[in-house]
Amino acid sequence: MVITRFAPSPTGYLHIGGLRTALYSYLWAKKNNGKFLLRIEDTDLKRNSKEAAKAIEEAFKWVGLKQDGKIIYQSTRFDIYKKYIQKLLDEDKAYYCYMSKEELDELRESQMKLKKRPKYDGRYRDFKGTPPEGISPVVRIKTPINKNITFKDGIKGTISVNTNDVMDDFIIARSDGTPTYNFVVTIDDHEMGVTDIIRGDDHLSNTPKQIIIYNALGWDLPNFYHVPMILNPQGKKLSKRDGAMDVMEYKKEGYLPEALLNFLVRLGWSHGDQEIFSMDEMLKMFDPKNINKSASAYNKEKLLWLNSHFIKESSYERIIKELKYFDVNLENIEKKEILIDALKERAKTLKEFAEKARLILEKPSEYDEKAVKKFLKVDSKKIAEKFLDFLKNYNKSLKTPADYNEMIGKFLHKFDLKLKNIAQIIRISIVGSAVSPSIYDIMCIIGKDELIKRVKKLIQFMEDNNEQN
Ligand code: GLU
Repeated sequence: MVITRFAPSPTGYLHIGGLRTALYSYLWAKKNNGKFLLRIEDTDLKRNSKEAAKAIEEAFKWVGLKQDGKIIYQSTRFDIYKKYIQKLLDEDKAYYCYMSKEELDELRESQMKLKKRPKYDGRYRDFKGTPPEGISPVVRIKTPINKNITFKDGIKGTISVNTNDVMDDFIIARSDGTPTYNFVVTIDDHEMGVTDIIRGDDHLSNTPKQIIIYNALGWDLPNFYHVPMILNPQGKKLSKRDGAMDVMEYKKEGYLPEALLNFLVRLGWSHGDQEIFSMDEMLKMFDPKNINKSASAYNKEKLLWLNSHFIKESSYERIIKELKYFDVNLENIEKKEILIDALKERAKTLKEFAEKARLILEKPSEYDEKAVKKFLKVDSKKIAEKFLDFLKNYNKSLKTPADYNEMIGKFLHKFDLKLKNIAQIIRISIVGSAVSPSIYDIMCIIGKDELIKRVKKLIQFMEDNNEQN
């Protein structure tokens, strides 16, 4: 059985890089009918892990990922770590080191003077004497000397390092007895039965250390996949401004979760040249073997493109539900379908969708200055008055955009006018600016009575501002 895990450190929110790793791990487990576990790496007790777990659960819920079983907190597992530290000590695979901080500093300094990489010199590795007094020892692992640690990374290929070059007898328990990072990760991955570790390649340098621990305990290695980072379009580390923000910010910005997941799955993985993936397709097609070897660049345009695609694909019910989050309730709007169809084509985000819907549904509180200057001309007030009069006396049914189209046709014909003479007047009166979906749609959405009110209001405005002069 494939068992994967997502193992965030508690930062209080889920970052999109983290979500991508979680998604890859989730897909790989689920594709294989396996398990996807969630472990909060909260051995540093100063940080609030409950809050972090809540934030992750909230983000998971929004995007539709769910871990199997309960969340595992490292902070509740100290006994397990202690047991394995003791085991390694008993088997002489680890040892107490009584070096004081001063001694360690001294050693470092002398190594630096000789232009050598600072490295613990193993002086307590085979120590059999009486321990110095007043020192709480750390526990160090016996790293094999001059040994090649080789493993096959599912993305990077074969990685091999020599222990002499990159490692010393690293600490597995601090002097207060608390275990160190690489130690707990290894113990947990084994105890949780993790078979496939998919994580950021910023952890690549930890893996040989973890392998030393696996070997010392006689455990089989899991499969490793180190995923290249997400960079900004300039090839630098992704910053908050570039989009490296809390996943829930994406909700606030009006992204659909399926768009974000689709964006993330493609950011570093591909299946031919397919761009759009449903969750089912991701599950069918995802394989960590096809994760790119090089870093991928965050591309906001692509995310917007995907988002507008998924907005267009959404049902009326879904849009109505999503817009409530942005305080727009279309439930009781008679022509909601027309409104949704008109805006679906234009809005790249739900936030923009809501803003545009609000503009149509609420009377404009002000008129866009540029639109007023450009489109309200000398004769605009007169034309608007004629239109108002014509509309009031229009007896035919006005139920569909086509009815409005017909009505406008008759109006233009009667007064020998062109569409351009009236179109922007109608737009400005309805939404306050010269940008809107089709005028027939927006007139139909607000209905005849409301249209009369808004045209009247614009006439009043023109009168007050003498725009007709
Ligand atoms: N806790 C680590 C992090 O948040 C991940 C550890 C791992 O995946 O092995 O970066």
